[in-house]
Amino acid sequence: EMAKADSVCTPESMDSEDILFMLYTSGSTGKPKGIVHTQAGYLLYAALTHKYVFDYQQGDVFGCVADIGWITGHSYVVYGPLCNGATSVLFESTPVYPNPGRYWEVVQRLKVNQFYGAPTAIRLLLNYGEEWVKKYDRSSLKTLGSVGEPINNEAWQWFYHVVGEGRCTLLDTWWQTETGGICIAPRPSEENAEVVPAMAMRPFFGIVPMLMDENGKVIEGNDVSGALCIAQPWPGMARTIYGDHQQFVDAYFKPYPGYYFTGDGAYRTKKGYYQITGRMDDVINISGHRLGTAEIEDAMADHPEVPETAVIGYPHKIKGEGAFAFIVLKEQTAHIDRVKEELKAIVASKIAKYAVPDHILVVKRLPKTRSGKIMRRLLRKVVTEQSSSMGDTTTLDDPSVVKEILEAYQKYKEKSSS
Ligand code: AMP
Repeated sequence: EMAKADSVCTPESMDSEDILFMLYTSGSTGKPKGIVHTQAGYLLYAALTHKYVFDYQQGDVFGCVADIGWITGHSYVVYGPLCNGATSVLFESTPVYPNPGRYWEVVQRLKVNQFYGAPTAIRLLLNYGEEWVKKYDRSSLKTLGSVGEPINNEAWQWFYHVVGEGRCTLLDTWWQTETGGICIAPRPSEENAEVVPAMAMRPFFGIVPMLMDENGKVIEGNDVSGALCIAQPWPGMARTIYGDHQQFVDAYFKPYPGYYFTGDGAYRTKKGYYQITGRMDDVINISGHRLGTAEIEDAMADHPEVPETAVIGYPHKIKGEGAFAFIVLKEQTAHIDRVKEELKAIVASKIAKYAVPDHILVVKRLPKTRSGKIMRRLLRKVVTEQSSSMGDTTTLDDPSVVKEILEAYQKYKEKSSS
């Protein structure tokens, strides 16, 4: 096919609002949404954020090691750097192949100036010790960045002190597939302004963050938490959900009329900085991959012996979050282990390997409201061992189910630890 194609191709003129690309993400409904980005606004925003957040200077070698197939790779491996005429590193491997020094070997060999990656990789690498980092010359590095999920303090400190030798600016950058590019990050800022560890802090040019309370009112002042919204449009914002503009309006603009709703919660510190506190709905973030718990449930529902499942996220040391599945079997079977293996295989093939639940616990029934909605928040309490504070259970169809699940969980835990 390549031989048939011309080596020179005339550029096509596009309208500023023509589609540039689509990327699928999952929302709270678990139904994948094709997020549409268009030409001019997205490219402008990717280029500006690449330049100003990372302090990209002409001649720099920019290294974003994110998967090119998700939004970070789109904006900061391809579009942003190329719009700025930058040299962009394409990393096609894993951080531990052939050994845990891989990233830093690349930094030394290619003289990378900006290094942008995910907290999950940093958490993984810090377990292998400092020798793998120190073996390589990292003096070319000027700016480090973190993206995709909250970076915990331990990982931030290791990234900053060990990788960056305490002399590189380390930026926690917050944004989403829908925003097209970085929206909140410690830079740009006034020169040498403070960078608080593990905090995204400052909105980018033109981004006006707002926090909302449960009644849809703007929360004023500092030292407050709420639903994170953005108050005015910006060039990089998604334009629609492919084939379903109404869903786009409903998901992002209906919850708080007049504002873009991010789905995340945030805390505004005493000094007015923004700290992202996480998703507000049933979405989990495994190694930086965001997926609706319902997506995993949908996949497992294909198993003929498993009529019902509920998946929740739980804190995982390396992946950030892991999936924990509760399943109900059609009838008692002696082959529970076989069923579990089959479920894992289904999830791996229908979604991806990273989505496979770490734990699968068989229960007799799931906690449901009288209207039939599974109360995942109760399951989360069981798994995070906060069952003494179950909160309001009055809407439960049958409150005795909680005791039943707690007992099953205890047994499961005893069995797995032995
Ligand atoms: P995605 O669209 O798949 O990139 O996922 C976007 C979501 O990832 C956001 O809505 C946040 O929940 C989470 N996220 C991304 N970056 C950060 C960050 N720096 N800190 C905390 N959460 C983040």
